[in-house]
Amino acid sequence: MAKTANSDAHHTFAIRLMQHMVVPTFVLDADRKVMIWNHACERLTGVMAADILGTQDHWRAFYDEPRYCLADVLVLEREDDLSSLYTSHTEPSETGNGLRAENWCTMPRAGHRLYLAIDAGPIYDDHGKLIAVVETLRDMTEQKLAQMALQNLAESDGLTGIANRRTFDDRLRLEWLRAQREGLPLSLALIDVDFFKRFNDGYGHQQGDECLRQVASTVAAALFRPGDLAARYGGEEFAVIMPGTLEHGANAVAERICDRIRQLALPHAHSDVAAHVTVSIGIATLTPTADADFPALVSAADAALYESKHAGRNRVTAAPQAPAGETLATT
Ligand code: GH3
Ligand code: MG
Ligand code: MG
Repeated sequence: MAKTANSDAHHTFAIRLMQHMVVPTFVLDADRKVMIWNHACERLTGVMAADILGTQDHWRAFYDEPRYCLADVLVLEREDDLSSLYTSHTEPSETGNGLRAENWCTMPRAGHRLYLAIDAGPIYDDHGKLIAVVETLRDMTEQKLAQMALQNLAESDGLTGIANRRTFDDRLRLEWLRAQREGLPLSLALIDVDFFKRFNDGYGHQQGDECLRQVASTVAAALFRPGDLAARYGGEEFAVIMPGTLEHGANAVAERICDRIRQLALPHAHSDVAAHVTVSIGIATLTPTADADFPALVSAADAALYESKHAGRNRVTAAPQAPAGETLATT
């Protein structure tokens, strides 16, 4: 009798402890019904314990659509679904019996999006049977936003805001390997502003910077495929990577860019080509073979750009296609 009273007291104490813990926490039983929803969890989600205890509605506190939370994944042993459910997660083997994941949550009741770091840990009875899962939440929104801002800073060009050279190099290498693996074509356009030295000399460096900003956003806006990347290649040169695109498609994109720059009609009184700013473009398309390397694509596009310059600027030139079975020279 005394023992029961003692264990009841322990039980009450454990629940109270969890309810007052500063870490937002909820507990599901083996039927995935909410057993505990602590005060910190109420504050984080705006959902009161009274509205959620005994239900399977805990997802409503975090998401707009019905879906599993991390505790559900653990109860249902659906670890294979982690990648589709979460922005990031650690391998279950790395967290012992528990799971760890991170996600953007819409938090419908709280009314603002949060990036949450989530841990789910199982509780077993003396016979090793799962009786509950504890899910703890940490609001990582500020850290995530800071990290995204830093990443953006590292990946984008300070003047124009589009991808910088490092991002271009990384992406080109990645797309090259992907194209090689999948036997798909990869196209590259190199874009160079015509007589830009004269533009700077005539209008001043600040106007030059403004011109580059406008050219960059025009190039970026001319891309319709989400997989394409516009980057500042250097100085007054820009590049566009077009995965899975044949010469015909790349040519259409390059012509569109050339056109839209003309339509910007940025005055350039010192150009031999026109009274406004124009660009010259070189494109190259390659389906990488096993022994080819991506500098081949860059040199082919560069040679085509050179052709455009020498043929009078303000135009698009395509690199000659390598005969089937051959790769373009890398030198
Ligand atoms: P071409 O038609 O043959 O391309 O002639 P160009 O004058 O455009 O080529 P050149 O390479 O001689 O000159 C490029 C100029 O771009 C020189 C450089 O001062 C300018 N430039 C490079 N980066 C920047 C920048 O960030 N801001 C400004 N304002 N100018 C830049
Ligand atoms: Mg140049
Ligand atoms: Mg130039």
